[in-house]
Amino acid sequence: MRAEILLGNEAIALGLVENGVHVAAAYPGTPSSEILAAVRGWSTRLGRRVHTEWSTNEKVAFEVALAASWSGLRSAVAMKQVGLNVASDPLFSAAYTGVKGGFVVIPADDPGPHSSQTEQDSRLLALSAKVPVLDPSTPAEARSMVEAAFVLSERFSTPVILRPTTRLCHALQSLDTSPASQPSDAVSPVRFRKEPTRWTATPRLRNRLHVELNRKLKEIEAAFEQSPLNRVEGPAGPARLGVIASGVAFANAREALDQMGVEIPVLKLGTPFPLPQTRVARFLAEADLVLVLEEPDACIELQISDRTRVRGRLDGTIPGAGELSPEIIYSVLGGLLAEVGISPAAAAFPAPKLDVESLSLPARPPRLCPGCSHRSAFFAMKREFGPQAIYPSDIGCYTLGINLRAVDTFLDMGSGITLADGLYKASQITGDDRPILATIGDSTFLHSGLPPLINAVHTGARFVLVILDNHTTAMTGFQPTAASPRRAAEPDGRRVSLAELARACGVSFVETSSPYEHDAFRALLRRAYRHTQAPDGGVAVVIADWPCILDDPSPIRENPIPVEITLECDGCRYCVEAFECPALVLRSDGSRVDIDRSVCVDCGQCLDACYKGYIVARPAEASVPAS
Ligand code: SF4
Ligand code: SF4
Repeated sequence: MRAEILLGNEAIALGLVENGVHVAAAYPGTPSSEILAAVRGWSTRLGRRVHTEWSTNEKVAFEVALAASWSGLRSAVAMKQVGLNVASDPLFSAAYTGVKGGFVVIPADDPGPHSSQTEQDSRLLALSAKVPVLDPSTPAEARSMVEAAFVLSERFSTPVILRPTTRLCHALQSLDTSPASQPSDAVSPVRFRKEPTRWTATPRLRNRLHVELNRKLKEIEAAFEQSPLNRVEGPAGPARLGVIASGVAFANAREALDQMGVEIPVLKLGTPFPLPQTRVARFLAEADLVLVLEEPDACIELQISDRTRVRGRLDGTIPGAGELSPEIIYSVLGGLLAEVGISPAAAAFPAPKLDVESLSLPARPPRLCPGCSHRSAFFAMKREFGPQAIYPSDIGCYTLGINLRAVDTFLDMGSGITLADGLYKASQITGDDRPILATIGDSTFLHSGLPPLINAVHTGARFVLVILDNHTTAMTGFQPTAASPRRAAEPDGRRVSLAELARACGVSFVETSSPYEHDAFRALLRRAYRHTQAPDGGVAVVIADWPCILDDPSPIRENPIPVEITLECDGCRYCVEAFECPALVLRSDGSRVDIDRSVCVDCGQCLDACYKGYIVARPAEASVPAS
């Protein structure tokens, strides 16, 4: 045995590799991002041949992995929960067509949400797509459920969703990392077999496949009735109160009941869809009242047809939004235990060792990093076009441009361009002549920006699109994009050009400049805007080209520009609010701004940020002779 402490995502990756995954694809998104990198790590360490790729978006990743499954190989795809929306088209169709090699879909949900635009429940999408779901409670269970998912997928020829949530993805647990099984690296003699009646999505055959899918779901439900993934813990027989729980909510419920010193039956459901109806009905029949604990929405509860003695999210016993923290579960359970006449040994949630709420800590809202080139690009846009311009933006680090008042909208991946397109068309009716400047990151442009750009060009929209090209997918951990200079290990891969892509979409004005070169960048923005106003103009694309400071600090290290603030600074706050570098710090008495040298990276980007000229380049320091 070899014990190691693993993240939930690393445990899932280990489960994939030790169970013979051959193709794994993903698009990065918190909380799922570590899974693919860990598959690479485990496959190298365990000597397994696995193709891994960061695909351009979740739909692409899903279909790459699905095709591998149709070729008879075990495959997997990982994404964050909103990524499943992007991949929902093939998800629904793959449920009909079925699979050959085991195919595991891993959408990581984000109850809270901590880093997502919604807290949607992937299990409800699975219910609609008719795809079975496994819902792990711990990293160890997530690892073992990978094997169950592959077996289920191959037995019933269906994609299987393994649905972790943020707290599981980022939980740490000590696991025995000796491989659970020893699959041969040699691929058994499988290859894609032509089967047009299954693999072609013609409507005539869909009805038959739908009937087949419904039958399959009934068989899967019957298998789940017997599955060890579902079990009752606690006392058997009639009870005044019982709990049905799945996912991380089960782990929190278990902890709360232990702390309360209460023994009541708990049905742990590892298979929330399709619901093992007989098993659940048997459990309900034994209890006067049953509390359903699940995240982030009601999926199990929704599938229980008679909810007269059921409490949960649907009747308001549990808050309709947000995570089920141990504190919330403790409080809800406490109320229900009192209602049924059970007195817990410990009535109050244990006080935390450190009362964080009582500490008066300075507010630290998320901000762009010191030296971030996005800040320079936004500052230039604001300088040129002012607060009256409209600034649609997109999903990425640069949504923090909202602090600089250079982001007015963001909705989903690619929407920066489509909203700019729609705003332009609306402006033609309303007579609104404000400039429109959209922003989108390099990874997001490749993910979902091309069809919107084609549409905008084709339908005659006019706006400036600034592609913020920092050479990486920075927000999720510096995964490479198809346009990154430093690419991941795809030996035959080619780097694509953002400028060529924009030109191929029909954009006639495409120019690149570094936002670090303030005068040149602002001049480019002016030319781009003029193009949008010219009789033969249209969409103008500006590529703001500078690497993410955290991913590649070498340009600044090689050419640092130290700055200082002169004694004349009067603390007017303009630089702090308009430029918002975390290294510019207003003194507590408001008298002036100082540079926090522990944070400053000597990028010199704030030299323009004081309109009075009090931020200046620091003279080269006299060399100190060695003693
Ligand atoms: S450096 Fe300039 S802009 Fe910043 S607070 Fe001082 S005077 Fe105001
Ligand atoms: S040089 Fe200016 S912009 Fe750059 S990190 Fe330091 S304070 Fe911030």
